[in-house]
Amino acid sequence: MRFRTLSHLTTSATLILAFACAPTDNAADDAALAPGLATLSADELLGRITTLSSDAYGGRAPGTAGEDSAVAYLTREFEALGLAPGNPDGSFIQQVSLVGWRGEPKATFAVGGKTITPSFPDQYVAISRRNQPTVAVDQSDIVFVGYGVVAPEYGWDDYKDVDVTGKTILMLVNDPAVANPADGSAVDESMFKGTAMTYYGRWTYKYEIATEKGAAAAIIIHETGPAGYPWEVVSGSWGARENIDVKSADGNAGRIPIEAWVTLDLAKEMLTDAGLDFDSLKAMARTKEFRPVALGGTASFQVKNTSREIQSRNVVAKLEGSDPELQNEYVIYSAHWDHLGTSDQLTGDNIFNGALDNATGSAGLVQLAKAFSALDPAPTRSILFLAVTAEESGLLGAKYYAENPLYPLEQTVADINMDGLNQWGPTRDIVVVGYGNSTLDDVLESAAAAKGRVIVPDPEPEKGFFYRSDHFEFAKKGVPALYTDAGTDFIGKPEGYGKSKRDEYTEKDYHKPSDEVKPDWDLSGAMEDLGLLLTVGYRVANGSTWPVWERGTEFKALREASLQKRAAQ
Ligand SMILES: [Zn+2]
Repeated sequence: MRFRTLSHLTTSATLILAFACAPTDNAADDAALAPGLATLSADELLGRITTLSSDAYGGRAPGTAGEDSAVAYLTREFEALGLAPGNPDGSFIQQVSLVGWRGEPKATFAVGGKTITPSFPDQYVAISRRNQPTVAVDQSDIVFVGYGVVAPEYGWDDYKDVDVTGKTILMLVNDPAVANPADGSAVDESMFKGTAMTYYGRWTYKYEIATEKGAAAAIIIHETGPAGYPWEVVSGSWGARENIDVKSADGNAGRIPIEAWVTLDLAKEMLTDAGLDFDSLKAMARTKEFRPVALGGTASFQVKNTSREIQSRNVVAKLEGSDPELQNEYVIYSAHWDHLGTSDQLTGDNIFNGALDNATGSAGLVQLAKAFSALDPAPTRSILFLAVTAEESGLLGAKYYAENPLYPLEQTVADINMDGLNQWGPTRDIVVVGYGNSTLDDVLESAAAAKGRVIVPDPEPEKGFFYRSDHFEFAKKGVPALYTDAGTDFIGKPEGYGKSKRDEYTEKDYHKPSDEVKPDWDLSGAMEDLGLLLTVGYRVANGSTWPVWERGTEFKALREASLQKRAAQ
């Protein structure tokens, strides 16, 4: 059993004493949950997924007719279940103001007397988040900065005393402790959570630190292993399609001008032209002693932006808690309804249907809403069913909600997120992405044990999935979050079946038009997982204690500070 902290926190409504949970009365819960569990139907789930991922929904891109269809569908379903509007204004909608833009990039790299004009989006992608018609960077010195990481808690600083203001920084993807593909070893298990990806490994971090450093452009070198996805995912997401961001008051004027990626081949070519060697630079970058290396060459970029405002929507429904006081506390279930829309670059099937990603989670959200609606009495705390927009553009709908919550986050007990349900049949286990982060794991572990199942850590922690879906925006604000994924130990299947299916999906279907409902899908495992998530949310909503972050997680201090601040008001 993991260490659990005592904390004494007062909210305006309730005195909460968080101590080790008493053993849960599984039998009583089972009886109370039975009418809800009975509503969980694999056929119904499949029907909903099929509808949401049909070509008629056009890949559900924010600000398109596909959004209208998806939002109308979810609203209709929540309403039909008799749920209350989730927005206190009496609607099921939270308006989300976004800016969408298309960039036409040009790039030139002049290194070692040679000029390269790379092709877009096959060799590089580049965008500017600044809301300006043209953003240009002219002959800026290129500096290789290793992983581009500044992590004081590990005594790590890739920049040392080198000023990169106005320069183009070239960086490796992931963090310095990522497994060495040659021998599978990590640099130092005690640093950067060993082979697990930390936030320092995410591309969002790379451009944030580059902005802080005053760089003119930041280029990430793509490598399939450490990135967790092939180049096609980069070119598909950052290529000739619309990019989206939450609308900012200053038009992102303080943001780094150019955010780019290059293929590994192109990076190697540039480094060779500079008389450098990629592999030895990478080896150096995996040490604390690393210092930035100038290429002795320059990068020029020009990005022409055409932008438009997009009014998008989160859909939110509420099941009011049955306790007059505790109903002001909330358990959120979240899932993103959006996907990538269509691409005019592709011939043939150009609709990104997003069946797994994330018609499954959105459909699961409706199924859970239906299950909760069947409970009598309702749980004591309120439940919010939050279908968010623009996850694929950077968790934007969730970010918008977390920054503009409809109910205070200090009264939000937990977020339980779904992004991709299991389509390959029943498993003995269920994966917890970010395993060990919060006491929500214990609630899930107990619910799983009652079904003869176990919880296991993410088999691919190096891909940083904890930072890649909507719950992360809640975690960033301190709200304990649970994000599960399909188990790996499939009942009646040979060993390695789960991994091979998962790898096959990542390789062939992830963020591609072929992410469609397949004839061999078996949603019986997804139903069991939904049953567990129902049980977890129910117990948290009825619990005598709030879930808390475990010691050592980056969100714990934040949560305690925000609850104390609120208590003091
Ligand atoms: Zn997703």
